[in-house]
Amino acid sequence: MESMDSLATPAGGVNNNALNSDGAANTNGTTNSAAGSFSAVNSTAAGASSPMGERPIALRAVDLVKDYGKGENLVHALRDVSVSFERGAFTAIMGPSGSGKSTLMHTLAGLDSITSGQIIFDGQDITDFNDKQLTLLRREKVGFIFQSFNLLPMFDARQNIFMPLTLANKRVDKEWFDLLVNTLGLQDRLTHRPAEMSGGQQQRVAIARALISKPSVIFADEPTGNLDSVSSAEVLTLMRDLVNELGQTIVMVTHDATAASYTDRAIILADGQIVADREHPQAQEMSDLLTSIMQEIVGKQASAHHLAAHSVHSLNASQA
Ligand code: ADP
Repeated sequence: MESMDSLATPAGGVNNNALNSDGAANTNGTTNSAAGSFSAVNSTAAGASSPMGERPIALRAVDLVKDYGKGENLVHALRDVSVSFERGAFTAIMGPSGSGKSTLMHTLAGLDSITSGQIIFDGQDITDFNDKQLTLLRREKVGFIFQSFNLLPMFDARQNIFMPLTLANKRVDKEWFDLLVNTLGLQDRLTHRPAEMSGGQQQRVAIARALISKPSVIFADEPTGNLDSVSSAEVLTLMRDLVNELGQTIVMVTHDATAASYTDRAIILADGQIVADREHPQAQEMSDLLTSIMQEIVGKQASAHHLAAHSVHSLNASQA
């Protein structure tokens, strides 16, 4: 098993020994050919490199396309998305409902296949991985945190935290477990079952479970969606600490601008494209940005309806 030190590298944030094929000299930006169609965002939105980019890349998507369905039911969930995530960085993925956030997260995590493009995870091209390889990747390199915690109700906190190791038949690194339990303040909750804990405590257990196998990347899907504001702040602060103190890489889907303000960087998706990319996002800034993107989408839909209605009207008139 990896030594604990390999995760505890605050300065560089390098938490995995696997060499990165991209090397240190990377361009950590996003590029997106069509993102310029959204005027609500400025030039850093896409096509330009993010000013971050000093650290190695944990995860990279290149020209990622994901379509669902066929023919009339065809949906372009991701349209040529290119984005890199640095090691030891906390990144938020934001965007309106249906913009492709979950699809991006699921494809990056090897949970869903892609239509075209490439995904490089820890320097490994996982694009053509078979199911067995993907299962192994998820087990060894990925940690998940969900909105609904997804703890097993019949097991106590300790058993829940150990679950990924139990399933993989791996032994527990006692030192690492103690460090996680202390960092997450779970010392006196270990024998409690989920029903005996608050939402915030359950999510802290879920975070420890995500971390127990020392994953390269943690994906969090609306981790504060079921929490009140006090517990949300607590959980987000802990996630921030994991990034700062343990060099953990976290990618978090959230619609909450306040949650995004805890991250190092927020990217915004709209209609399957990255339309904004902000370092050190501020809550008000992200909230304003999301509002203007929503207004633009509504405006586009309204003019499309107007155009369609106008065409029908013209057609009727010409047939009269
Ligand atoms: P978000 O997470 O931002 O709400 P999603 O990634 O869930 O967006 O969805 C992006 C687009 O893909 C939406 O138009 C959604 O309806 C569509 N979509 C997502 N999953 C499926 C699926 N399994 N089958 C068909 N369409 C899907």
